[in-house]
Amino acid sequence: MIPVKGYAAPKANIPLAPFKFDRREVGPHDIQIDIKYCGVCHSDIHQVRDEWGGSIFPMVPGHEIVGTITKVGSGVTKFKVGETAGIGCFVDSCRHCPACLAGLEQYCEVGMVATYNGRDKEGQPTYGGYSNQIIVDEKYTLHISDKLPLSGVAPLLCAGITTYSPLMQWKVGKGHKVAVLGLGGLGHMAVKLAASLGAEVTVLSTSASKKVDAEKLGAHHFVVTSDAEQVKAVNNTFDFIINTISAQHEYNFYLQMLKLDGTMILLGVPPEAPTVAAFNLIGKRRRLAGSLIGGIKETQEMLDYCAERGITSDVEVINIDYINEAYERMIKGDVRYRFVIDMASL
Ligand code: NAP
Ligand code: ZN
Ligand code: ZN
Repeated sequence: MIPVKGYAAPKANIPLAPFKFDRREVGPHDIQIDIKYCGVCHSDIHQVRDEWGGSIFPMVPGHEIVGTITKVGSGVTKFKVGETAGIGCFVDSCRHCPACLAGLEQYCEVGMVATYNGRDKEGQPTYGGYSNQIIVDEKYTLHISDKLPLSGVAPLLCAGITTYSPLMQWKVGKGHKVAVLGLGGLGHMAVKLAASLGAEVTVLSTSASKKVDAEKLGAHHFVVTSDAEQVKAVNNTFDFIINTISAQHEYNFYLQMLKLDGTMILLGVPPEAPTVAAFNLIGKRRRLAGSLIGGIKETQEMLDYCAERGITSDVEVINIDYINEAYERMIKGDVRYRFVIDMASL
């Protein structure tokens, strides 16, 4: 076994604290990564607080992982020691079902193995990237370009792919009016990526203070959702709404902003079940859809796309002992726009 240092939540709603554990030895198809940075996703908070149910403790969160390869197994063909590599939201899947064969491992019919708060094929709990080492099969490892600052690349492994995948699925581009709902980690990547594809982007936010940033990120318009006049002006106008809100909110209020045949794509996972008025969909043949992260092939495509265009996340790099405060700030919407842990602080 390989001894690892990390930070864990011992139980739901107990602050994270230093934690030592073991990882498996490097197998023939495995890669060992010395973790340099790990992004902080709102899903970490939902799971640490057991807001979705079924959380496994102690929990070492973190699924936006980048670092340097320190060891490769004898059968590894795609990676070498010394290269930079990334790990996203899952570390294994069944590999045989139609979804896995189609490169859509996130929708594996048997169930993907989540990077943390999951169980591997031996039934052992998985531990994530708030740690100094990780060992993963090369099939679930991503190549990372050295062109971009690594701290800003880490959030691409979740916030980047989660927003890129629906933009590809719905072929978003020139001529589309796209609203990004919620300007946090996912939201700011949605703005950058949708704008890079040529869409006309509007940010819908509760925080008037984020207007200047929204424009710098590439948004063309900004709507404060508490301002009735501004909201009225955008009702029935969007082709797509990319909904990244993490907390309870009223879907009907936003569905009305879609034009005929418009689609609201849910990315955010508020713990409470929302209600949807049928007439809000029927009246304009609107669609309500959802999307979960992205497969390995598409994640690599997204990383290469971002490397070519110089797209990274806007980050606030923190020491790991700041993680509990970082969570409190994220819940208040006070992050511009992703916290990333510098693992040298561990
Ligand atoms: P985040 O950085 O905390 O951003 C969420 C944003 O939502 C906030 O910055 C805020 O933006 C807005 N917001 C928060 N509470 C709100 C409320 N009550 N009403 C209206 N707006 C509110 O979170 P994140 O890391 O981007 O994650 C967002 C959600 O996506 C989480 O639920 C997370 O679990 C989920 N997620 C899903 C996937 C997937 O595969 N589908 C992947 C990753 C994360 P403003 O200040 O602009 O209003
Ligand atoms: Zn995430
Ligand atoms: Zn599968």
